[in-house]
Amino acid sequence: MTTLMMGNDVAKAMKESLVQEVEALKAKGITPCLAVIRVGERPDDLAYERGAKKRMELVGIECRAIELPEDISQKELEEEIQKANDDTTIHGILMFSPLPETLNEEKVRSMIHPFKDVDGMNPVNAAKVFSGDPSGFAPCTPKAVLTMLDYYGIELEGKRVVVIGRSKVVGRPLAMLLLARNATVTICHTRTKELEKTCRQAEILVAAAGKARMVTKDMIGESAVVVDVGINVDADGNLCGDVDFEEAKQKASYISPVPKGVGSVTTSVLAEHVVRGAKYFHLCGCDSQQVLRIL
Ligand code: NAD
Repeated sequence: MTTLMMGNDVAKAMKESLVQEVEALKAKGITPCLAVIRVGERPDDLAYERGAKKRMELVGIECRAIELPEDISQKELEEEIQKANDDTTIHGILMFSPLPETLNEEKVRSMIHPFKDVDGMNPVNAAKVFSGDPSGFAPCTPKAVLTMLDYYGIELEGKRVVVIGRSKVVGRPLAMLLLARNATVTICHTRTKELEKTCRQAEILVAAAGKARMVTKDMIGESAVVVDVGINVDADGNLCGDVDFEEAKQKASYISPVPKGVGSVTTSVLAEHVVRGAKYFHLCGCDSQQVLRIL
């Protein structure tokens, strides 16, 4: 029998402890707050922003949208980041990417203060993820994959895990987080030879390629756990994942659907990270300058 890994069930389980943590912070006079920085009006960003706002509201976190025009200059954007860094009422900064090509994204990413960098964009946090240091912020999506596997009691230690995709936001950090949990990880990408065979050997297969239904049942080992991170629109205009769900569920022991899978967990992880940002702030006696000095 195949178990469906439903994102909403995971998010529901996370909600209770998040609400309690937010209340405890509010009792100490700190209202956790997320600033969402959006340049332009890309439909993907707008959709994610709506989901993030809703999730923050549900657990009592304040969410402030900083909407910037597509033709903003590098200097103006850097000033906005600096303002959010310096604002003592903001504990997490989420900036949508990619930025328009006219802007130097690497520079802006490295400006987000590491303690407020709740989607792991700053190289400081990326380095922490890569060195296995849990004190940094990992990007929310790979963390959501782990949260989902943990919720369903799937052991990672010693398991053969194959990740399809090597992007900086999903595939690579996910591989590092899995490695930190003692999984045996293989990363596949567009130049991988024998992709099908490699995937078939996986006990846990994670698809993060951004290619609609590319994972067919021939690529799935008997009773493998299949996590689908992909979000695609197929030729008929329907939302679908990287996995051919109907085929895959005939072989998988556990499988996450798209929609209603990993995506639903991502914003809850984001909320957890904002709460952690607020705790850093509290630890420093609400002195944001001290938080800034720690690094
Ligand atoms: P990306 O385009 O930056 O990277 C895709 C990776 O997949 C690349 O490393 C590429 O080498 C690999 N790849 C592409 N086609 C392949 C193929 N045919 N065979 C083997 N490898 C292949 O994408 P991304 O930002 O990493 O996102 C991946 C997917 O996850 C997208 O569909 C995206 O929409 C989705 N996503 C979901 C969430 C979420 O919360 N669920 C968040 C971010 C991204």
